Amino acid sequence: MKDLKSMTLSELEAELLAMGEKKFRAKQIYTWVHRGARSFEDMSNLSKELRARLRESFELYAPTAVRKLESQKDGTIKYLWRLKDGNCVESVLMRYHHGNTVCISSEVGCPMGCTFCASTLGGLVRRLEPSEMLDQVLFTQIDSGVPISNIVLMGIGEPLDNYDTVLRFLELVNSPEGMNIGMRHISLSTCGLAAQIDALAEKNLQLTLSVSLHAPTDEIRNTIMPVNKRYPVDTLLASCRRYFEKTGRRISFEYAMIRGVNDTPEIAQILIRKLRGVAAHVNLIPLNDVEESPLKPSYPHVVRAFQQALQDQGIPATVRRTLGSDINASCGQLRRKYEKTGRKE
Ligand code: SAH
Repeated sequence: MKDLKSMTLSELEAELLAMGEKKFRAKQIYTWVHRGARSFEDMSNLSKELRARLRESFELYAPTAVRKLESQKDGTIKYLWRLKDGNCVESVLMRYHHGNTVCISSEVGCPMGCTFCASTLGGLVRRLEPSEMLDQVLFTQIDSGVPISNIVLMGIGEPLDNYDTVLRFLELVNSPEGMNIGMRHISLSTCGLAAQIDALAEKNLQLTLSVSLHAPTDEIRNTIMPVNKRYPVDTLLASCRRYFEKTGRRISFEYAMIRGVNDTPEIAQILIRKLRGVAAHVNLIPLNDVEESPLKPSYPHVVRAFQQALQDQGIPATVRRTLGSDINASCGQLRRKYEKTGRKE
């Protein structure tokens, strides 16, 4: 069975022609799929015969929400979706001034092993399919009734470890006949797979690349992010420079502030030196407490001082607003809890 929702319009057209059908049928089907049709029965402008033939060759799946948590404070909604094989991933809907944004997962679990992150505690279970990434956007919009204008690939998993799938997902969600979400409204976050950043640069997409830097020296970064042994700080930053040269898009660096680990004034100065010549924006994120980890968030005055130090040197730096803190909205925590409690809770 072919995964209908992972196919591009032109692939679907080729399929329909091979079935002896008219090409325009593909567009009708594609439109249904990208509006969240749950079955071929919903496709009322197709004949019964065609629907039956489609059912024989194509798979059309829709995930179910096994958990839905809504923040009383800011309207953030977190979904835990059950996929067709029983695995679960999370998505979070956030209402920002600049648009309604959904944060989606790219893998079930994560192979990267960052010590402060809940998503990677059980390792990688499997990578998602393009349709499973699209479903998170589609069904978050349908279930919440909130029109989505922005997407961030910052949920569970490492998007650049699932490179081909992510590129196909971007093509699908960006397509005019589909959700038509512009590349400039999409951010992709990576822990720093430098080789894939170079490959992505060649595609010259207008999306925003976020790089989870979290420390400016190999000494510190090695202890919290195993990926740094493969791609050390200078290697990563060289890729970031090339990425900017190629795409003209400024890089957004994520920097989780961890008490006593990466938050001192000396480290701020090293970061400033390392970012010289990189078109950067730094996003400071007070660490989210993860039950299994001894790492703690930096104190607010320390975060502010760090921000000020960067700004004094002309590096734009913002402190991320925390949304959904009452629903454990940060990545990987809901799935983790659900799996740990034997899916009973
Ligand atoms: N694998 C990708 C995307 C998923 S993580 C990446 O590493 O960028 C999304 C962001 O949340 C990353 O910047 C990640 O480092 C950060 N993050 C993970 N756990 C966190 C925690 N406990 N507190 C704050 N940020 C965290």
